[in-house]
Amino acid sequence: MRFTPGLLLSAALLLAAPMALAEERTAFEQQAREIYQTVVEIRTAKGQAKVPVMVDYLVRELKAGGFADADIEVTDYDSAGEPVQGLMVWYRAEGPPKQKPIVLLAHMDVVDALPDTWTRYPFELIEEDGYFFGRGTADNKYGVTSLVATFLRLKAEGFKPDRDLVLVLSGDEETGMFSTRAQAKYVDEKIKPAYVLNADSGGLTLDADGKALLYNVQAAEKTFASFELTVSNPGGHSSAPRADNAIYELADALKKIEAYKFPVMHSPMTLASFRSAGAQTPGPLGKAMLAFAANPADEAAIAALRAEPSTVGSTGTTCIATMLRAGHADNALPQRATATINCRIFPGISIAQTEQTLKEVVSNDGVAFKLISNLVESPESKLPEDVMAAVAKALAARGLEGVPILAHMSSGGTDGLFYRNLGYDTVAIGSTAAKLNDTFAHGLNERLSVDAFYGGLDHWYIVLKDLAGAE
Ligand SMILES: [Zn+2]
Repeated sequence: MRFTPGLLLSAALLLAAPMALAEERTAFEQQAREIYQTVVEIRTAKGQAKVPVMVDYLVRELKAGGFADADIEVTDYDSAGEPVQGLMVWYRAEGPPKQKPIVLLAHMDVVDALPDTWTRYPFELIEEDGYFFGRGTADNKYGVTSLVATFLRLKAEGFKPDRDLVLVLSGDEETGMFSTRAQAKYVDEKIKPAYVLNADSGGLTLDADGKALLYNVQAAEKTFASFELTVSNPGGHSSAPRADNAIYELADALKKIEAYKFPVMHSPMTLASFRSAGAQTPGPLGKAMLAFAANPADEAAIAALRAEPSTVGSTGTTCIATMLRAGHADNALPQRATATINCRIFPGISIAQTEQTLKEVVSNDGVAFKLISNLVESPESKLPEDVMAAVAKALAARGLEGVPILAHMSSGGTDGLFYRNLGYDTVAIGSTAAKLNDTFAHGLNERLSVDAFYGGLDHWYIVLKDLAGAE
């Protein structure tokens, strides 16, 4: 970069700007930033037992903001030996509700982070280079912050909804989902919402220059299932090898699974996703997306999409070997060999059907199958019209009218899957904004841009006022 006097002046101005800008932040923006900083700096990862600390903080903020004890429910859960909590907050309808409740989801826990592997300490909110850095800045503490801050803002304004708004914050979405499962059951028995809105996915996709390309609505997610495949063998002395060998037998099974291609699957939503993404993706991958959207039987397009990690998941079920263990001594023939196969199952196909398919592919009764995950199937959700209209209104309010709103299916899982499984249309309409692969969620140096943080703070405010506004 070349040095010029003008540059010095603008550099001085730039340095001064954040201070001026911070002062120009509204009271609501400053409160949201404070909540964000506080929750990001609580290490709510498995093994830290810190979720209750975050719950305590949020409850204090909510009570200080006018929510009564009767509007707040804290529940303890045992998440496979880890004490976690769930937090539910009611923003009750003014008078008899005129519409069914809305349930709003986010999760308080994070995937852990090892400080010595990060550039900055992961459990301190660090604002630098136009980004907020820290574990959970994108997944999912911005979701928690924007929903809680919006509840406080609406309460402070005396907003009188014509339906109950129920915030449901889980405590172990990234691990066992025990709190999620129990909360979903409670919601189904006691609340019976019109639909469920999730802050843990969805949001704006930006291009390399930060321009909004499209707004994602996550309306389906593939089913997560892991199987253990085990081969047992009498074993023996390794100096007397036999033809039968547990490791080889398992390896044969794995090679068959590797070679097997699950049937191509699509839905109007996945085809629409490919049509839209294809129009914005340069080169052969974009062409393949468009070709597949036009004809899902197009062999060349299928091959191209299945060769690309970012698109293979949207063409059908995938199963992949992720873990392996075998043998008990280097001088003994192995008595047991076990591999873990992780599947992401296309909506509409059951876990049992997938296990049966794998058994047929392996076609060896000597390979024992065991389902080791305990998640549920979740069908694709319909897109509630009033929700789509409210999202369009929120986008228009930030000068983004006309940005395409696109429903998609994610390969990863969220709390939403338990609500879909119970039959509730569940759509993720998060308030984030990010360039592709720019948040590093679950990874090193997770971040969310400062512009995205402040730019998305009105999202839920506008959406909730539109969906529950008696005014
Ligand atoms: Zn998440």
